[in-house]
Amino acid sequence: MINIAIDGPAGAGKSTLAREAAKALGFVYADTGALYRAVALYCHRNGVEPVGALDKIDIKLKLKDFAQRVSLNGEDVTEAIRSPEISAMSSRVSPLPEVRAFLLDLQRDLAKQNNVVMDGRDIGTVVLPNADVKIFLTASPEERAVRRFDELAAKGSSVTFDEVLNDLNKRDRDDSNRKEAPLRQASDASLLDTTGLTREQSLKRLLDIINKKK
Ligand code: C5P
Repeated sequence: MINIAIDGPAGAGKSTLAREAAKALGFVYADTGALYRAVALYCHRNGVEPVGALDKIDIKLKLKDFAQRVSLNGEDVTEAIRSPEISAMSSRVSPLPEVRAFLLDLQRDLAKQNNVVMDGRDIGTVVLPNADVKIFLTASPEERAVRRFDELAAKGSSVTFDEVLNDLNKRDRDDSNRKEAPLRQASDASLLDTTGLTREQSLKRLLDIINKKK
């Protein structure tokens, strides 16, 4: 199986670009942030801490037509996990070693069974250290916040630009500074900075890197 790992900070366009690259390659696309979000959603709804609740949580990623669906205990939560509240909460559950260990096998099994483009924070460093291609995708904080703000506004969210920028900065800080599997570029990953690039230009650069290395 061919495994492509894409890591980077929040709002760098990982999901969109990873999905489009997967489609172009005929690979499966796996968004691992959705797993942490599903754990956060369960804890939020039930008012519980993750440790101790994990054996009550069953998460499945359904990979269909390059559009991933996420189910939590049999319920489709693909949209419910995208709220700003769950975004913030996901980076509060993700530093916990128990949560990371709980989600690790699920991610590795997906990669064992499929040609996959997998995006996250620690895919190239921890989840798939032997991935065939590793890319660290980033963009300036302001540009990432503009993209995320536009995305949320298009969905009718009333969140302000400053709230989005603050949330991204805080999550990046938390994700980079945590002890367990922090966000960082793997030593053998290619850096792709999409600041100032259109989506099409970014996708072309990404596919160029993948096709050269895979
Ligand atoms: O990618 P997304 O913004 O959906 O991820 C939500 C949160 O899940 C991140 O802020 C991060 O704390 C966590 N995460 C992680 N490791 C991954 C993917 C996401 O810790 N591989």
